[in-house]
Amino acid sequence: MTNQKLDTKAFKRSLQQSENYHRRGFGHEEEVSGTMNSEYQSDLIQTIRDRNYRLEKGDVTIRLAESFGFCWGVERAIAMAYEAREHFPNEKIWITNEIIHNPTVNKRLQEMNVGFIELVGEEKDFSVVDSGDVVILPAFGASVQEMQLLNDKGCKIVDTTCPWVSKVWNSVEKHKKQDYTSIIHGKYAHEETVATSSFADRYLVVLNLKQAEYVTNYILNGGDREEFLAMFKNAYSEGFDPDRDLKQVGIANQTTMLKSETEQIGKLLEQTMMKKFGPTELNNHFMSFNTICDATQERQDAMFDLVEEDLSLMIVIGGFNSSNTTHLQEIAVEHNIPSYHIDSVERILDRDRLEQKPLDGDVAIVENWLPEGKITVGVTSGASTPDKVVADIIEKIFDLKAVAVV
Ligand code: SF4
Repeated sequence: MTNQKLDTKAFKRSLQQSENYHRRGFGHEEEVSGTMNSEYQSDLIQTIRDRNYRLEKGDVTIRLAESFGFCWGVERAIAMAYEAREHFPNEKIWITNEIIHNPTVNKRLQEMNVGFIELVGEEKDFSVVDSGDVVILPAFGASVQEMQLLNDKGCKIVDTTCPWVSKVWNSVEKHKKQDYTSIIHGKYAHEETVATSSFADRYLVVLNLKQAEYVTNYILNGGDREEFLAMFKNAYSEGFDPDRDLKQVGIANQTTMLKSETEQIGKLLEQTMMKKFGPTELNNHFMSFNTICDATQERQDAMFDLVEEDLSLMIVIGGFNSSNTTHLQEIAVEHNIPSYHIDSVERILDRDRLEQKPLDGDVAIVENWLPEGKITVGVTSGASTPDKVVADIIEKIFDLKAVAVV
């Protein structure tokens, strides 16, 4: 399917006016908020918050980041999914992807009889979805082609896309209107970036500053076109030509990337266009809107504060495919703190062994992860992690160090 000819803005506008499209709650807020509190909140975490994000028991001091866990957009998406179940008790309900990158929450939705659209090869199998079924779009959105397909099928669409993500899509629409190429800082295969790029006519996804430097060097000095296309394979729009399509660029981002890196990439491109075309021409070649999500920024800032403390180790909690959690882990690793990325308490196998996901590696067992004697454990969690999961892990650490939690 191609989006080259589709007027994505007009399509979204008409979709939003359809009676089959829902992007607000259904009036069951109170029941749902009670259910969510009982399933995902934790008294222990509240206690730690109340004690200045610190709790000491025996040899263990827990230092919780001052901003962590569920963000506003995630809570909203889960609440909307729960409400959809209440509101459509008899309809079949599907979700186009994991609602958020958290196994606990996704499992809960499965228990509530919400079906996940499966991948068959590289394509999602929408053949299971019938007219009249309810389909939930996750917090990080869905591609415009998927929305179109579901709309054509006559489904009821419950759109939980976070408004911060929609804000990025609006930026991309502005790039397109002026015939700019969108340079998206993100992971090209991540659901959010797939959705964002589906709104662009022309785009290039850059993963990090190093790739952005390669692009800016190409803009300034030219280079090997074939090498460029090979390096960014799968990360650009159909027919993209680096010799033709890098003269007017706009910046967009996956909302959960490292904030400082998104800013650096933006600055680098701005300076490059200024150098290439001169300061007076900058506005005809470069476009940027601030679309860094507050929640991502706050969690990263809190992590930067935490890693300045004297920590024996760091536990970073979140789904292994969660981009924002991985970036929190990156901060700890860069500060040379022994840091373990786990997604649930079950990953703590015992006093000596813990199963974790290293940066850029597969899940593996680490031995002797919990030091003897007095320790300070830094703890944080990604935007899709319920407090209860964090509490279970803290309790387990106290337990392993033989401390009773009161
Ligand atoms: S991390 Fe930001 S963009 Fe993503 S769901 Fe949360 S609030 Fe929205």
